[in-house]
Amino acid sequence: MTRIAFIGLGNMGAPMARNLVQAGHSVHGFDVAAANLAQLVKAGGVAAASAQDAVRGADIVVTMLPAGQHVRGVYLGADGVIATAAKGALLIDCSTIDVQTARETESAAWARDLDFIDAPVSGGTVGADAATLTFMCGGSDRAFTRAQPVLAQMGKTVVHAGGPGNGQAAKICNNMILGISMIAVGEAFNLAAKLGLPADKLFDISSKSSGQCWSLTTYCPVPGPVPTSPANRGYAPGFTGAMMLKDLELAQEAAHSAGVATPLGAAAQALYALYAGSGHAQDDFSGIIRMLAGQGEAPR
Ligand code: NAD
Repeated sequence: MTRIAFIGLGNMGAPMARNLVQAGHSVHGFDVAAANLAQLVKAGGVAAASAQDAVRGADIVVTMLPAGQHVRGVYLGADGVIATAAKGALLIDCSTIDVQTARETESAAWARDLDFIDAPVSGGTVGADAATLTFMCGGSDRAFTRAQPVLAQMGKTVVHAGGPGNGQAAKICNNMILGISMIAVGEAFNLAAKLGLPADKLFDISSKSSGQCWSLTTYCPVPGPVPTSPANRGYAPGFTGAMMLKDLELAQEAAHSAGVATPLGAAAQALYALYAGSGHAQDDFSGIIRMLAGQGEAPR
């Protein structure tokens, strides 16, 4: 039985840790919010008194934390995961964070001869629950080979994107495409409505034409064409406007530090900042269509 420390048992971490318990591992979890530990215990895991308590003696450490500052706080320093982990432990960070922090954390782990992999996910809470997440991994071949089997118990697709930080690079590039394409699809439906073209007609045509994309065919921002999309339930998330904004901010930080022009990514960040700042941070990100239409109803 593998002993796994799981740190960060929030909306994503709790179901991921539960899937590891169900796969037969001994999971020792820690979260600064004590209430989140109860869920793990109910699922058959062990509540640790601190991150160090969870990590001591663990074969594998998995973290699922809000942002880069939390990852630095948990991994680095005298009481951090890297200082506390047993010799030979494998460290896996599944949080979505900046590329720089991922690379620095990997270097600090490497200095102690510990394998570290950045493995951010796509698939949201539904994917975390059903163990169907996609993991985008950055790290050495050896770290990836070791991490692959345990990640496969929490997801269905595990991709090695290259060296340290490349998992985070893949995640923010993918979500920059998503943020931009959702705005494009929203603008098109709003324009179609004003031109007298019904939403279902545009959907039928564009879903089989060159405008086809995931934001249109899987996550359509107007109610009707795709019954499972958040538009059909008042834009309850899903993936919140705040989370999309966070990922677009990470993409812009990366673009600035790499000196790459991403003008549509910058525009998408500004629009999602407006959306989140005007009371929609906790609404699904696809609800931006209503803001683009002047806060009206999404067209049908
Ligand atoms: P969350 O806020 O629900 O969970 C984060 C947990 O970390 C919280 O329970 C918090 O108490 C805990 N935490 C914070 N600091 C800690 C510390 N020092 N020690 C121990 N625990 C600590 O967030 P989430 O929705 O689970 O997302 C986690 C990560 O996954 C984020 O980076 C997010 O961007 C990414 N992500 C989320 C989704 C989604 O749909 N929720 C999808 C893809 C990626």
